[in-house]
Amino acid sequence: MNMTGIIFHEDFSKHDPGWGHPECPDRLNLTMKFLREKDILGRPEIKLVYPDSANEQDLALAHTKKYIDSIKRISKHRGMLTSDTPVKQETYDLAKLSVGGAILAGKIVSSGEMKNSFLLNRPPGHHAGRDYGGGFCYFNNIAIMVESIRQEYGFKKFMILDWDVHHGNGTQDIFYDDPSVLYFSTHQMPLFPGTGRIEELGEKEGVGYNVNVPLSPGSTGADCSYAIDKLFIPLAREYRPDFIAISAGQDAYFADSLADLNFILETYVKITKQVMKVAEEVCNERIAIVLEGGYNLEALPRIIAAIITTLAEIKDIELSDPYLAPKQIVSSTVEKDILKMKALLADYWKVF
Ligand SMILES: [Zn+2]
Repeated sequence: MNMTGIIFHEDFSKHDPGWGHPECPDRLNLTMKFLREKDILGRPEIKLVYPDSANEQDLALAHTKKYIDSIKRISKHRGMLTSDTPVKQETYDLAKLSVGGAILAGKIVSSGEMKNSFLLNRPPGHHAGRDYGGGFCYFNNIAIMVESIRQEYGFKKFMILDWDVHHGNGTQDIFYDDPSVLYFSTHQMPLFPGTGRIEELGEKEGVGYNVNVPLSPGSTGADCSYAIDKLFIPLAREYRPDFIAISAGQDAYFADSLADLNFILETYVKITKQVMKVAEEVCNERIAIVLEGGYNLEALPRIIAAIITTLAEIKDIELSDPYLAPKQIVSSTVEKDILKMKALLADYWKVF
């Protein structure tokens, strides 16, 4: 039975921010190579699907016309969106294809064709807000996915879990005043982009629907899993979303060079299972995952394979960390922070 849709397009690798840039084509080239070597893509539980490009109307679901036009214009002449986010001639089209992938990842799950999906896309999106980009992101793939599902399938409530090591400032901003999208992020703090404090709870009708779990450098996957257990799952049970979307960046991995958290391969298996369990309770198992960061080229393919085999409930493929993994313990700082957050969230949620 097909359970998990993998959305991929060869052209995702044509996006090349330049020599030495961490957000490089090999992130996906090596991942696809590894998935093929392990014969994961040939399994009956998996279906590989190819997206079409998004159109300007789709982009406008989360971005201003002025911003969309500016990316199009810079693409013609080449330039820099921010110091780490170059815009080349093909950038506009490739970023639109990445968004097309996100729309398809949401669609195949919403229609009931697949139980869940994983989009293997580039460029990423969670740092892009309505009228800005940066942090390797141009258009917010996951926000457009949510809006397109809302439009096409009439679902009313969404949860976005963002476990990338960086705070998804763009996604937070887009839904900051929107109570129909509960944004939940675990991320390292301090770190780029600098947002994502506990006190950022949303605004207007959206207050209480934005939850940030900042983790100090050195925090482990056990801390993240604990936060999901103590906050995300109770929130999901009370909120009862129709759909859970995940911004999956694997840069909280202990050997990732862009940050200092200590997640291990098993962390990603565990947190995927936690979300799958609650999705079974609240939203008919609907989960769509969109790739964000993850820059260790040895580890990333293995972690993605581990998430996919977990989603597809494939149990006979052994995957392990390519390096000696650090010990996983819940830190007392995280326990204290979560108590503080429960107290803050108690104004908005009965469960706390
Ligand atoms: Zn990241």
